[in-house]
Amino acid sequence: MATTSFLYHSLGLRGYRHLATRYEGGCLIHHVEMAPDKRRCKGCGAPDSDLILYGRFQRTFKALPVGSRRQMVVLHGHEQVCRRCGSKLREPILFAEGSRRHLRCFERFVVDLCWIAPIKHVARFLGVSWNFVKDMFKRHLGRRLKKRSLKGVRRIAIDEFSIRKGHQYMTVILDLDTGEILHSAEGRSADAVIPFLRRLKAASAKLQAVAMDMWPAYLLGVREVFEDVPIVHDTYHIVALANAAIDATRRDMYRSLKGQDRRVLKGSRFLLLKGGERLDHSALTHLEKLEHLNRPLFQAYLLKEDLRRFWRSADKTAAKKFLGAWIARALATRHKHFVKLAKTLRAHRNGLFAYFDHRISTGPLEGINNKIKVLKRQAYGFRDIEYFKLRLAFLHESTPAFAG
Ligand SMILES: [Zn+2]
Repeated sequence: MATTSFLYHSLGLRGYRHLATRYEGGCLIHHVEMAPDKRRCKGCGAPDSDLILYGRFQRTFKALPVGSRRQMVVLHGHEQVCRRCGSKLREPILFAEGSRRHLRCFERFVVDLCWIAPIKHVARFLGVSWNFVKDMFKRHLGRRLKKRSLKGVRRIAIDEFSIRKGHQYMTVILDLDTGEILHSAEGRSADAVIPFLRRLKAASAKLQAVAMDMWPAYLLGVREVFEDVPIVHDTYHIVALANAAIDATRRDMYRSLKGQDRRVLKGSRFLLLKGGERLDHSALTHLEKLEHLNRPLFQAYLLKEDLRRFWRSADKTAAKKFLGAWIARALATRHKHFVKLAKTLRAHRNGLFAYFDHRISTGPLEGINNKIKVLKRQAYGFRDIEYFKLRLAFLHESTPAFAG
C-alpha cells in the first residue's frame, strides 16, 4: 500500500526508501531506511562512497494520523564510519529534529491544529499529552517571535491589565499600526517596559509616539530610553479619572452629611415628588437647601461631562484654551477631588495636547482586553507564564473562539 513516493508526499520523508508497512494495534507502521545516495558523513559531509556501514539502530517516530488511525515511522538506521575523517557516527536523521520522537510534519500538523482548536482537544485527537502539544506550540511561537522585526515600529500603546485578584498586573505594549502585542511583562514598574524599549531602540525603530495613561513608572521607563518621543495621555484613562473623582465626591458628601442635612435629604422625597406650584414657603426653603447640598455633585458631574469635549477640540490651540478654562473652573469649585484632577491634568498637559499631533490612544488595547480575558480563562491559566506571553504576542492571529 505505502510506497516511497507516498511517504515522500504524505509525510515529507525525503531521501528514504520504503521497506514495509504493517498494521498493528490500530496503528499504521511504516518501516524505512535512508536512500544510499542521501547518505553523508555527519562529521565532514563525505558521500556514501566514503562510508562504511557497520552497525544498525532502530528508532520509532510519530507521524500524522490517517483519519482516526495513528501512524508511525520506524527508521532502520546505520552506524557509519567515515574513511575520510575517521568519525564513527550514526547517520543523520533528515525528517526529525535532534532527539525528537516525531516527524517534522507531525509538528507542523500539531501547530496548525493549535491555531484552530484548544490544546486539550488537539492532545486528545492525537493521543498525546497536553504538555506535549503545548510545548510544541510554544516552541513554534517562540521561533516565530524571534524573527519578528521591530524596525518598522512607529506608534505604540502601553497599558496594564490585572492577571490575578489582589493587584497583580501585567504590562503589555501594542503596536498601534499592526495590532500586534509586541511585549508583555509581569508587574507595572519601569522595568516592565525598559528592556523592551531598549530592544526597540537597538532595532533602530523610528518611534513617533507612545500612548499611555499617566502611570509614573511607565513615564519614567519611556523617558529612560526615548528622551524626546511624544507621549500621548489618552482619553480613556483620563475620563476614568474624572469618573473616579465623581465617585469620591459622592462618597465624601454622603459621609459628611450630618444631623440637620441628613434630615433635609431624608425629608425630601415627598417634596421632590410634589408639583412646584403646590409648595409653600417652608417647602421652598427646604428645596433650596437640597439644591445647596447637591450642588457639589452636580458641579462635579458637569465638569466630568465637559472634560470629554476636550478631545473634540478643533486643533491643539483650541484644546489648550479649553483645558486652561476647564482647569480654572475645576480649581474654582474647591472640590478636593476635582482640584486634584485639575492639578494632575495641568502637570501632564503636554501629554494631553500631544493627542492633537498624533491622535492615538490605548483604545485598541482596551479592545483586545476581551481576547486577553478569554485567554486568561483557559485551562492552562498561568502554569506557564512564558507560554501565556507567547500567546499574547500572537493574539492578533488567534481566532476569537480560541480556547487553550
Ligand atoms: Zn567524515
